[in-house]
Amino acid sequence: MSGTAIRYGDFPTAHSAEDIARNVATVRTRIAAACARAGRDPAEVRLLPVSKTVEETRIRMAHAAGLSEFGENKVQEAREKAEAMADLPIAWSVVGHLQTNKAKYVARFAAEFQALDSLKVAEALDRRLQIEGRALDVFVQINSSGEASKYGLSPEDAPAFLRELPAFTALKIRGLMTLAVFSADAARVGACFRLMRDLRDRLRGDAPDGVALDDLSMGMSGDYEIAIEKGATIVRVGQAIFGPRPLPDSHYWPGSGP
Ligand SMILES: *Cc1c(COP(=O)(O)O)cnc(C)c1O
Repeated sequence: MSGTAIRYGDFPTAHSAEDIARNVATVRTRIAAACARAGRDPAEVRLLPVSKTVEETRIRMAHAAGLSEFGENKVQEAREKAEAMADLPIAWSVVGHLQTNKAKYVARFAAEFQALDSLKVAEALDRRLQIEGRALDVFVQINSSGEASKYGLSPEDAPAFLRELPAFTALKIRGLMTLAVFSADAARVGACFRLMRDLRDRLRGDAPDGVALDDLSMGMSGDYEIAIEKGATIVRVGQAIFGPRPLPDSHYWPGSGP
């Protein structure tokens, strides 16, 4: 049983590289503490900073503070930033739902795609990647909360979906990704993460050749400590590093309220 609480708001806005470095240090300390509680090695947990809505100036500060990979929810925004900061060695991770007509952009600039949720998108991405002569690290998004508004495959559909993926040779499947239910109830949030870990462990046994299911991308600013206690190997953290966002989350996630 975990007593770790969900955190809402209260994230300090970072105005400088020093602010960002301090916030990152705080997050890393909390990651280490969560790992200690779970008997895990902090080296097993990758912190993916999420920079959606964060403007170029502050992303450059974050780079100066030592961050070199950023997650973005929207392809258009990610693409503009990748072009504007092409002078920096930054790896861009697309963590939001993709429409097939935007696959060509992701195939060009992204280092990673964490939200694969249909064979149509797999096919479009693979085709564009073959044209570009590139491969892409990919995560399959699972709807772990059962909410109709959430993207992702149902856990029941995941095994058959994974069996189709070896056909798409440019997609390097690394693991599963999820967004837990948005709730202040740590037990409900923890249940989503727990389900993911069980699913990953079950699927790993008979994953097709070339489909790796080592990574579990789960946990955000409010709930990454709980996610780590349940087995996350990647946490996607935005507001706890950069501060609160100007746009409501409904702009990024369907059905997440105002
Ligand atoms: C915005 C976002 C995050 C980070 O959320 P924060 O509350 O800023 O930590 C993580 N994952 C996805 C898919 C996101 O869109």
